[in-house]
Amino acid sequence: MKWQRLLDDTLHYVRPQLGQGVVADYIPALAAADPRAFAMTIVTLDGEVFSVGEATTTFSIQSISKVFTLTLALEWEGQELWKRVGREPSGSAFNSIVQLEHEGGVPRNPLINAGALVVTDTLVRFSQAGAIDQLLALLRGLCDDETIDVDSTVAASERVWGHRNRGLAWFMKSFGVIRSDPNEVLDAYFRQCAVAMSTEQLARAGLFLANEGRDPITGAQVTSHERVNRINALMLTCGHYDMSGDFAFRVGLPGKSGVGGGILAVAPGVGSIAVWSPALNRSGNSLVGTLALEQLSLRAGLNLF
Ligand code: GLU
Repeated sequence: MKWQRLLDDTLHYVRPQLGQGVVADYIPALAAADPRAFAMTIVTLDGEVFSVGEATTTFSIQSISKVFTLTLALEWEGQELWKRVGREPSGSAFNSIVQLEHEGGVPRNPLINAGALVVTDTLVRFSQAGAIDQLLALLRGLCDDETIDVDSTVAASERVWGHRNRGLAWFMKSFGVIRSDPNEVLDAYFRQCAVAMSTEQLARAGLFLANEGRDPITGAQVTSHERVNRINALMLTCGHYDMSGDFAFRVGLPGKSGVGGGILAVAPGVGSIAVWSPALNRSGNSLVGTLALEQLSLRAGLNLF
């Protein structure tokens, strides 16, 4: 029970910090989250699940969805995707528009909002069943859990308050970088952000990222080893917006945050870790979640370097 003790110790360490930071308040559905809530789960490659806190409570995965849409888009569009989205850290906020005009409408990477909209454009164009149905099918299949779904209240709020994302999508359309109807892309993007999952589900879903693209429990090859290497490299360098360097420095693992307070981190060859704590730091990443990952990484010797 080494992992259980490590998680218990981690919670003990971060508990005094719970409540520090600010809960996302751009939509009412997120503003209502308890800033002191906390959960952390590790699923190891042999399928064992260890958790502390509210690990079965679902929350809005928000930008963590970008990892899974990227996985699908790379399967469908392959290398062509890199013509419309880069692989460099942005050093800018998650919803920044400033670099786009200088760089011909091509976003820096697929894990900032502009880049994620390009990825979702690929899903809209290539998916037979519809972008969100395909995303849900992937997540439900990975977790063997048909209950995973979009929170329609959050999705509706995202739609009402999505002015900046609308600006990004239409701006990229003017450069020809977005190929399909921006309204369709935005509708899918708002719904992917509103997918609700618990840390137990999220850690389970991310397990293929820690195992060369193959789900170690079902044996399913979700994507190739080479693609997983690339996805992990992007999570390490770009997964936390303008604090990606700080996250890599402190945690030393690929990770992707969401403004719902979740973070998915990957310990290659060991397991997949999800943490949730809704109060955020100034870059929109979970403040205590980052601290917890830093501690767990340190205590368990997970740092890749
Ligand atoms: N729904 C948010 C947006 O698109 C997601 C941002 C995030 O999770 O970082 O603005």
